[in-house]
Amino acid sequence: MTLTAAPESRIAKYPTIRNFVGGRFTGSGSRLLDVLNPSDGSLLSQVPLSSAAEVDAAVRSASEAFLDWSTTPIKERVQVFYRYRTLLERHLDELASLISEEHGKIRPEADAEVIKAIELTEFACSLPQIVAGEVLEVSRGVECRNDRHPVGVVASIVPFNFPSMVPHWTIPNAIALGNCMILKPSELVPLSAGRIAELLAEAGLPAGVFNVVHGGQEVVEAICDHPEIAAVSFVGSTRVAKLVYRRATGNLKRALALGGAKNHLFVLPDADPNLTSTSVVASMSGCAGQRCMAGSVMLAVAETDHIVRLMVEHARTVIPGENLGPVISREAKERIERSIEEAIAAGATLELDGRGATVAGREGGFWIGPTILDYVRPDMKIAREEVFGPVLAIIRTGNVDQALAVENASPYGNAASVFTENGGLARYVTERCSAGMVGVNVGVPVPREPFSFGGWNESKFGAGDITGRGSIEFWTQARKTTTKWSHP
Ligand code: NAD
Repeated sequence: MTLTAAPESRIAKYPTIRNFVGGRFTGSGSRLLDVLNPSDGSLLSQVPLSSAAEVDAAVRSASEAFLDWSTTPIKERVQVFYRYRTLLERHLDELASLISEEHGKIRPEADAEVIKAIELTEFACSLPQIVAGEVLEVSRGVECRNDRHPVGVVASIVPFNFPSMVPHWTIPNAIALGNCMILKPSELVPLSAGRIAELLAEAGLPAGVFNVVHGGQEVVEAICDHPEIAAVSFVGSTRVAKLVYRRATGNLKRALALGGAKNHLFVLPDADPNLTSTSVVASMSGCAGQRCMAGSVMLAVAETDHIVRLMVEHARTVIPGENLGPVISREAKERIERSIEEAIAAGATLELDGRGATVAGREGGFWIGPTILDYVRPDMKIAREEVFGPVLAIIRTGNVDQALAVENASPYGNAASVFTENGGLARYVTERCSAGMVGVNVGVPVPREPFSFGGWNESKFGAGDITGRGSIEFWTQARKTTTKWSHP
C-alpha cells in the first residue's frame, strides 16, 4: 500500500471512498491511500486516512441519534434487520463481487461471506426473545426486575481478511441492542463498508445510528481516546489487539480485542485419510490461509505417513487463480515467502512449494500456491509465529501428549482440531488443548449462531465473545429495578 496524491495517470475503477456520517457520505479529505485489487494489482479506488476531527464528527452524530434509537423498543429496532436481511439476500451477487475484487478471494468464498452476514443478521432478529427481562417477587409486594440496556456510542475496528463478515460480527447485534456505532474498516478493503451503510439506510436505520470512518492508526487511536465512546471492539493482529485493549481500557472504556492465531490440527493414526487430508488442505488454503481459524500447524502423531502423502497430493489440486485466491498485498506475499525460506534454512523439508506462483493474464496479482513444510521443529519460527498465508507446517510427534505439549506452548489459543475415529482420544485432546474453539474431524471449527465466536490466551483480550449469546453482555448493561407497592 502506498500513500499517494491521487495519480493523474492511473484511472481507478471506483470513485474515491468517503466516510459515512449522519446518514450521508461526507468529504474524503486530502490524504489518500491506493486500494488495489490483489488479483491483478489494478487500482480500484483510493481511501481517505481520516483524522481525529472526523472521528469526533461521527461520534457527535452517533450521540445525537442515541436517545431516540436506544428508547425505541427492541422489537421495533429489529424490524430494520429483518428488512436488511432481505436486502443482503437480494444484493448477494453484487456484494460478493465487491468482496472478491477488494480482497481477492474466489467467488465461492465471497458468496460464503455474504451468506454468513445473513446468518449473523438473523441472530440479531432473534435478540428480543433472548434478552427478554426477568422479574420475580422477591418478598411480599416487592419485585426485582432485570433489563438489558445499550451502553451508548460504540466502535468496531475490523481487519482486512473478511470485508463483510467480520463487520457483521458486531453491526447487527450492537445496533439491535440499542447502541449507535462507528465502524473503522481496514484501509486495505474499504469498499464493502459503503454498501453496508447504504443498505442499512435503505432498510430504515435512522441517520447517525451507523457511521463509517475510514483510515488507519490515527482513527483507531482517536476512537480509543474519545470520551463519548463507551465500548470498543477490535478484530485484527495480536500486536494491535494489545495496543487497542490497553489504550481503550486505560481510558476506562469496556473493550474486547480479538487477536491473531496459530491453530493446530492433531492428526491421529486412525483418522479417516480422505476426510482428514481434504479438511486439512481446505483449512490451510481457504481464503489463501488468511483466516484466523486457518489450520497452520499439523501435529502428525505417530504412524501418519499415509495421511501426509494423501494430503500433499490433494494440495496439488489447489491452483492459484482457479480454486485459490491471492494474498492481500505485495508486502504480505514477500513476508510469507520469506517465512518459507527461513523454515527451509532452519531444516524443514519442503514437500510442496507455492513460491513464485503466477496466473496468466493476472501477472500483477499477489499469488502464492499452497506450501507444505514437513519435519518442522517446535522451536522454528514457522511453528510459532502466525504466517497468514496458504502454508502448513507439519510437526511429527511420537504420541498425543507430545502433540498436546506443542499446542499448549503456543501463546495463541483461537482454534484447534483433532482428526480421529476414536471418541475417547478425541475427548482426551479437546479437553486438554488450550484453545477457545475446538473441532473433532472439522478443519475450521467456527461456532455458528447462536454459539459465540472467540478464542483464548493471546487470541482474545477481554471477557465474553464477539458474536452470538456471548456478545450480549458486552453490548449491554443490566438495570436492576426493585419496586414495592403496599396493598391499599
Ligand atoms: P491488523 O492488526 O494489521 O489491522 C486490524 C485493524 O487495526 C485495521 O483496521 C487497521 O487499520 C488497524 N491498525 C493497524 N495497525 C494499527 C496500529 N498500529 N494502531 C492502531 N490501529 C492499527 O490486522 P490485519 O492485517 O488487518 O488482519 C489480519 C490479522 O487479524 C491476523 O492476525 C488475523 O489472525 C487476525 N484476525 C483475527 C480474528 C479473530 O477472530 N481472532 C479474525 C480475523 C482476523
